[in-house]
Amino acid sequence: MRVDVVTIFPEYLAALDLSLVGKARASGLLDLRVHDLRAWTTDRHRTVDDSPLGGGAGMVMRPDVWGLAVDEVLAGAAGAGAGAGDVELVVPTPSGEVFTQRTAERLAGVPHVVVACGRYEGIDARVVEHYRASGVRVTELSLGDYVLNGGEVAALVVVEAVARLLPGVVGNPHSLVEESHGVAGLLEYPVYTRPPSWRGHDVPDVLLSGHHARIERWRRDRAIERTAERRPDLLRRLAPEALDRADRAALEAVGWTVGPDGPVPADPRGS
Ligand code: SAM
Repeated sequence: MRVDVVTIFPEYLAALDLSLVGKARASGLLDLRVHDLRAWTTDRHRTVDDSPLGGGAGMVMRPDVWGLAVDEVLAGAAGAGAGAGDVELVVPTPSGEVFTQRTAERLAGVPHVVVACGRYEGIDARVVEHYRASGVRVTELSLGDYVLNGGEVAALVVVEAVARLLPGVVGNPHSLVEESHGVAGLLEYPVYTRPPSWRGHDVPDVLLSGHHARIERWRRDRAIERTAERRPDLLRRLAPEALDRADRAALEAVGWTVGPDGPVPADPRGS
């Protein structure tokens, strides 16, 4: 997979040289290129912003500079054999759709992703408009309901979440299966390691039993319990057919029942 990140702070992305993403880059599983937007400026001061038309606070990133940058990055990928449908332009913005594990899974299947990191009050709206109209898939992504100073943190998040889904990046692919926000739709169960007793806190006996079926059941029950407590919105989305008798018993134990559309609180007044 190829990812191009365009930013006025290329050094910000240095963290992607570390850990599993760094290894994925070194081994060629991830072809990550970071570009300085100012390379496409044409004036002596390397200006990337201007005041907002219509007035108001702050500065807005210029469409002409972004246009040159994105055209060249897209052309580079096309030269390397990527077709128009193989490319997606990701524009981080607090007004975008919220980035989730589903988005990461989808992007992991896109051969070439370009991330355009905004700063100041953001990028002139015509940039997104222009590339959409030219047939490029453009996704405006938000990390959540808060405002950051720039899109670089979002680029780090997107690249890390996507890269770990590429085959070969995470050593044991099974570790991706049971994770929070995975296919099961549950948060992950609590995890423990040695020593079995620490400061008076003991690891649950079942985990030391060596009994795989019981451990699996215990973990699924804890995942259900934890999801009910912390993210009831996720529990409601579970398909009833994905829940066996033991799952239903675990749900009942935490005050939920399974209706025709999925789990609901047994006592709706308490929800
Ligand atoms: N004026 C913009 C607004 O109110 O929507 C906020 C601009 S913000 C200060 C500058 C840049 O930070 C944005 O262009 C975007 O790249 C990035 N950014 C800020 N918050 C973000 C979020 N929640 N998710 C993704 N990117 C974000």
